[in-house]
Amino acid sequence: MKQQKLLYSGKAKSVYRTDVKGTLIVEFRDDITAFDGGKKDVLRNKGIYNAGVSAFFFKYLEENGIKTHFLGMIDRNWMAVRELSMIPLEVIVRNLAAGSVVRTYPFTEGAHFNPPVIVIDYKDDARHDPMLNDDLIIALGLVTPAELKRIKAIALKVNKLLSDLLATRGITLVDFKIEFGRRGKSICLGDEISMDSMRLWDKKTGESLDKDVYRFDKGDVMATYNRVAGRIAGKKTGRSMPKEP
Ligand code: C5P
Repeated sequence: MKQQKLLYSGKAKSVYRTDVKGTLIVEFRDDITAFDGGKKDVLRNKGIYNAGVSAFFFKYLEENGIKTHFLGMIDRNWMAVRELSMIPLEVIVRNLAAGSVVRTYPFTEGAHFNPPVIVIDYKDDARHDPMLNDDLIIALGLVTPAELKRIKAIALKVNKLLSDLLATRGITLVDFKIEFGRRGKSICLGDEISMDSMRLWDKKTGESLDKDVYRFDKGDVMATYNRVAGRIAGKKTGRSMPKEP
């Protein structure tokens, strides 16, 4: 498989076409940003950790009946994926109150949500990703009511699967963000699931094991990512694919 032209470059990932129809390559770059791009850095090897953890989660979710875009790893920070028609929604599932939900509403940090709370934002940097509600999502024509129901059901299933898996690693899944795309009539999980897109707390110490370490200067970000990636995925970083000469 040969990498071809750049299709899209986001804050931390670039997406390339390939010579195989329907297959794209995602490069997990070493860029890290926070606060709507207000804080930016390049952290060596960060892309490798996020790609490895994403691959591990995508494989695990696929094995448990969730359709994802994941095909395999080409290199440690290069992932082959199925092409999806992305839906511009950021679907956030919250198990415990933290981050923006504590800043915006009168929740105490760490309060448990039972059932989990789903928040959906409109993925639009220029508008600062405003929060939507079901009526706005339908009025904007982003998905059909049936697709919205399906997206929420998949998000809750992903939450259960990831929470259970992380619990075995001594980690609480506080919240996470996922993105979806269409492939034919199916709704598939796209984007990434990594320390950049999840909030993870150590069950024993309560320590942050995610991008909050970077956002709030809580310590050595790369040491944390390295440790967490090892704890979650061990040495497994996804199915390998032969690299083109
Ligand atoms: O900032 P907030 O508390 O709303 O974030 C909730 C979760 O979604 C966090 O795990 C955060 O890392 C993730 N998120 C993300 N990308 C965004 C917004 C939030 O990965 N653009």
